[in-house]
Amino acid sequence: MEPSYDLHTHSTASDGSLTPSELVHEAAAAGVTHIALSDHDTTEGLEDAKAAADAAGIRLIPAVEISATWMEKSVHVVGLAIDPAGALLQQGLAGLRTLRHERAEEMGRRLDKHGIPGAFEAAAALTPSGMVTRTHFARVIAAQGLAASVSDVFNRYLAQGKPGYVSTRWAELEQVVAWIHSAGGTAVVAHPQRYKLTASWMRRLLGEFKEMGGGALEVVAGAGYPQDIQAAASHARRFGLLASAGSDYHGPEQPWLRLGRLPPLPSDLTPVWSPWHE
Ligand code: AMP
Ligand code: MN
Ligand code: MN
Ligand code: MN
Repeated sequence: MEPSYDLHTHSTASDGSLTPSELVHEAAAAGVTHIALSDHDTTEGLEDAKAAADAAGIRLIPAVEISATWMEKSVHVVGLAIDPAGALLQQGLAGLRTLRHERAEEMGRRLDKHGIPGAFEAAAALTPSGMVTRTHFARVIAAQGLAASVSDVFNRYLAQGKPGYVSTRWAELEQVVAWIHSAGGTAVVAHPQRYKLTASWMRRLLGEFKEMGGGALEVVAGAGYPQDIQAAASHARRFGLLASAGSDYHGPEQPWLRLGRLPPLPSDLTPVWSPWHE
């Protein structure tokens, strides 16, 4: 079978809508041969995902998407091919989940003052894992008919500067890279186009990331628009970063994102999976 990689996905262990095993089955049905489950700040789904991948005959790459703060900006770093038993990594993730919980309670208080009562409790009820993300709030608020869609909720209530937004200091980028390395993984800057950085800020971020030992950049990210791929590819070349590819799939309610349906990486770049065997 042609190898097909999707190295950035979510399950119900964070803000995805499929369970880890449903996600892996979807991926296998879509022809994905190597899937990374990369939930936000948790590795809880990896065990079920591994069992499902073994049963389906595809490879599960254990991963996690870690929330970092760099220069007052939120940056997401995917740790690929990590050992989830890594103690330093797990300690770091546990700290982030505590921050997330406090942030979610504060979001609930702010939304309450803004005339949307009970949002924290309703969001928490959507997630048995206890991982309350902005996506859960968005689903609650959209279901109340206060906005046309989940993404409209972000624009009206949850994005920076909006009533439910709570600014949070996540882990330092350098720490995040160190946690990933301590668990034997490769650190990947996720979806670079999402940070709205100028080219010079992006160079600064990636230069520092490379110095910290960061290994790769998501060159094909999300829907994989050609102009985003071109921009990311030139950054990967400049900083000698490996290239990753991931859909950032969260479930079938975002039909424009499909598992494994990613444009190819520019052929001169070295894929992040090139050192992996099998
Ligand atoms: P959090 O990590 O709790 O701040 O939540 C961030 C998550 O919200 C991201 O991982 C996305 O899944 C989702 N998200 C962010 N912005 C949007 C948007 N404009 N529309 C839909 N989902 C979004
Ligand atoms: Mn998400
Ligand atoms: Mn992300
Ligand atoms: Mn993601």
